[in-house]
Amino acid sequence: MKSALVFGGGGFIGSHLVKRLKNEGYWVRAVDLKFPEFSETQADDFVIGDLRDQQVCDRVIDRGFTEVYQLAADMGGAGYIFTGEHDADIMHNSATINLNVADRCLKRNIKRVFYSSSACMYPAYNQENPDDPKCSEDSAYPAAPDSEYGWEKLFSERLFLAYNRNHGMSNRVARYHNIFGPEGTWTGGKEKAPAAICRKVAYAQNGGEIEIWGDGLQTRSFLYIDECLEGTIRLTRSSFEGPVNVGSQEMVTINRLVEMVAEIAGKKIHKNHISGPTGVRGRNSDNRLIEQKLGWKPSKSLYAGLEKTYEWIERQIGRNAVEASKA
Ligand code: NAD
Repeated sequence: MKSALVFGGGGFIGSHLVKRLKNEGYWVRAVDLKFPEFSETQADDFVIGDLRDQQVCDRVIDRGFTEVYQLAADMGGAGYIFTGEHDADIMHNSATINLNVADRCLKRNIKRVFYSSSACMYPAYNQENPDDPKCSEDSAYPAAPDSEYGWEKLFSERLFLAYNRNHGMSNRVARYHNIFGPEGTWTGGKEKAPAAICRKVAYAQNGGEIEIWGDGLQTRSFLYIDECLEGTIRLTRSSFEGPVNVGSQEMVTINRLVEMVAEIAGKKIHKNHISGPTGVRGRNSDNRLIEQKLGWKPSKSLYAGLEKTYEWIERQIGRNAVEASKA
């Protein structure tokens, strides 16, 4: 039977990946500090453990697996990554996890680990023009990420590729660009722009106002979770090691994102621009390499993914309201 090990299997992408692998008939072990927040895990074996601890790594990497996915990281949206308050934790926690995972997998003769890097590793100087950001894979150097989160990702993608060169591993590295969808963090400070905007719009009255960090002219692209899983799995099972972008090329301003969500909600929404962490001015996935190497590109529009995400967040809000009324 095919088997998979998913580090970070209690997180947003990891818990969706576990479901996908189970649907494909895999036996799945997931490891995380916590269970998935919004649905029961479908993993056959879910280990609560801290991957910064080498003994935990030894315990969970105890045999060969057909596929290993390393998604565990100390991460969050702009409110977590760009304020500077969490820099030391982000670097220490995620680097320790990656050092442990790479080394323990090698020791157990696991040859291939999928590693999720991020578009945050791209140089800030190429992302100053919101209309024309540059994020081709070969534009990574001279390195100048705008956050310690991005520096750690750059370090760790180099780590996994160094194990390929020096230890005969065949690790895979993807650079994710803003993944979103149902069952992602939507409140509490670690949520990303699509979820935060869906939440704000869902709470707002028709004709009401929501707060937007910055002038809203900063651009991004967003990739729906199912598309991300497809790209991830294709890369893992391919002969191409990466690093390669896994993202969407449908770039929008944050203002446009708000308008899309308002349209989906059927509400008229005014934007109140306030100061807040916004990251680089522009970012878009460059999908030329992944299309060429894997024949992959997203199959659906941003709007279609936002519809599903908005509907899910509205349901969470309704559920919370029912629970609050019972208390
Ligand atoms: P997430 O925060 O939902 O999932 C990460 C999981 O790692 C969490 O469940 C967390 O509990 C777990 N974790 C953290 N520290 C741990 C530890 N010490 N031991 C065990 N588990 C630990 O994030 P996500 O959105 O699912 O992202 C998954 C991966 O993809 C991360 O590596 C992230 O950096 C990367 N990525 C995500 C995006 C995105 O837009 N979601 C973009 C770029 C890169």
